Amino acid sequence: MSDLYPQQQLSDSKDCPPPSDNYQILKTRDAMLGEYLQIRRALPNRQRRMIGAWCFLDHFGPLPLQNNAGMQVGPHPHIGLQTVTWLIAGKILHRDSLQNEQIILPGQLNLMTAGRGIAHAEESLVDDKGVLHGAQLWLALPDAVRHSEPAFNHYAQLPMIAQKEVIMTLLAGEMLGERAPTKVYSPVVALDIKANRQAALELPLNSQFEYGLLVLQGNAQLAQMPLEVGTLMYVGYGHQGLQMQLSPDAHLLLIGGEPFTEEVLIWWNFVARSKAEIYEATKQWQSLQHFKDVPGTRLPRIAAPQVVL
Ligand code: MN
Repeated sequence: MSDLYPQQQLSDSKDCPPPSDNYQILKTRDAMLGEYLQIRRALPNRQRRMIGAWCFLDHFGPLPLQNNAGMQVGPHPHIGLQTVTWLIAGKILHRDSLQNEQIILPGQLNLMTAGRGIAHAEESLVDDKGVLHGAQLWLALPDAVRHSEPAFNHYAQLPMIAQKEVIMTLLAGEMLGERAPTKVYSPVVALDIKANRQAALELPLNSQFEYGLLVLQGNAQLAQMPLEVGTLMYVGYGHQGLQMQLSPDAHLLLIGGEPFTEEVLIWWNFVARSKAEIYEATKQWQSLQHFKDVPGTRLPRIAAPQVVL
């Protein structure tokens, strides 16, 4: 996924309130992804740059594709991160510079580990006239592994947990005795939560973790605070559990992890530690060095914005 805004702002993980044990309500902001897809960006947020190693969270749709080309994001580069793509409805075709080509469907997870560098393209299919709805997240790679070789994993099946009227899918980490196969490099969790009827849900939390709860559909209530689409609730460390009320159609995404102590700079599609690294990666992409081509896509390569940091 790639933001096409010409003006890119630097996100510095230390330039926000430090991890706390409080609740915090954050608002998503609208942005365009490619020419056709409006998304809600929950992270990075001016009030909260990261939650654990999660440093980026976009929510897109539900968007009917009858008159919309949906996701049309041509080849673009990444360094220093993993992308996690999760669909509630629709399908997306992923292609990358390792020559992977993979359609992702609801209930499946795509994990792309950029490491020292990868390029990819993501697109809705021309004949897809359904509804597109999902999320894409980035995990910052810890310093010890962020220069590793790139990789791509597709997980066709993930652990599912049923609790009364609520069906949960574990995208990463551990919850309620289940462990996701997703290959991550820091202590994190991600859980899709879907209510089939109005429900009360209680989840155990790791008191070492901070968490974020994003509403994808419907609404919820947590600690007397109403949550709806466009809100991300931060739940700081030190909590043993979470109690929430879910509307009959509620669909939520819970993310969490140990507060990430390394200072992380994000600019465009790069997760780095210094401005020099960002300049270098941008130069390499623009001069067709370092990053390989993405075979198979008809979409044009995306030029990097001018670096002004
Ligand atoms: Mn991308």
